[in-house]
Amino acid sequence: MLRLLYEGKLVRKDNKILEASSSVTFIKTENHNIIVDTSSRDKRDIILKGLEKLNLSPRDIDIVINTHSHWDHVGNNDLFKNGEIINYDNYKSLKDNEIEILETPGHTWDSISVVHGDYIVVGDAVPLKDNIIKEVAPGINVDRELALNTLRRIKSLGKHIVTGHDGIYFIFE
Ligand SMILES: [Zn+2]
Repeated sequence: MLRLLYEGKLVRKDNKILEASSSVTFIKTENHNIIVDTSSRDKRDIILKGLEKLNLSPRDIDIVINTHSHWDHVGNNDLFKNGEIINYDNYKSLKDNEIEILETPGHTWDSISVVHGDYIVVGDAVPLKDNIIKEVAPGINVDRELALNTLRRIKSLGKHIVTGHDGIYFIFE
């Protein structure tokens, strides 16, 4: 089961980023309650309310996966006292057969994505739906060609894509 707790936001003006907060995704598997990305500090209440609607508290989360370590994706990691932090460095240690983690570099070298059922949660490998629709690499990248290849690889999987800052791109869109 996958629920989007917050769809993320990215406000730009003249190539300057005025506001950035990542999407926050909850995934329930048989063995784990997982949060993927924890957004920016000011979105704490939205996360708490989203969990409350699912009858959960932050203490119930045992795994926190960060798609990468930019501040607007890790701002509320400390909310999850019982959450083991999973990222590029240690993702191979996560054992859950309902979860697959893919290396999806380009936005950063250490970007990862989380596959669960029909969904893939990709962080800033795909920051906005428009990146997928127009097949444009994320504006912030360490290697534009690599970032574009990663984006195309993600698209080719044919899954619903939980973007970094723009909700879910459904494959039938
Ligand atoms: Zn980022």
